[in-house]
Amino acid sequence: MLPIVNVRLPQALRGLKNGQLPDEVLHPIRPNGRLFVTAATSWQWMKKAARMEANLILKPTSAFDAYRPLTVQTAVFHQRYVSERIPGASTKVCNGKTYWLKPGNAPLACPGTSNHGWGLAVDVANVTKALPWLLERAPAFGWSWELQSEPWHIRYVLGDELPKVAA
Ligand SMILES: [Zn+2]
Repeated sequence: MLPIVNVRLPQALRGLKNGQLPDEVLHPIRPNGRLFVTAATSWQWMKKAARMEANLILKPTSAFDAYRPLTVQTAVFHQRYVSERIPGASTKVCNGKTYWLKPGNAPLACPGTSNHGWGLAVDVANVTKALPWLLERAPAFGWSWELQSEPWHIRYVLGDELPKVAA
């Protein structure tokens, strides 16, 4: 079972719009992508620890698999979901409208509601390889999972705080 803890929204994000964050609250992470400042710092610490402890290279699947602007959230949503009924497909209701998930696609949050839009989530590349180490160590760095069905999707849950551990 993946450990699931609720995300604490950082104070600096209150009043801002999901997926429309100003540059000053986002920091770049290597090799690509951006995260909210505390999440970015913790990610770099965790990345260093993974490399030292397990020779594991942690990275997002792509640049937009960390902070994901609203335009990208919307575009990806409409690649995966359609407004015409698909028998047997899973559904999602966004702004009162029902959408059907096209077969073979992973579910996605409604545009404007994803933790990626707060710069607090990362979709980890090659998660099958990384998962054993992440399960053991990611909680100490303030990262947790959202859904049992999405082992690649981790979110930073400590809000404005940094984890007590430092790499
Ligand atoms: Zn994700």
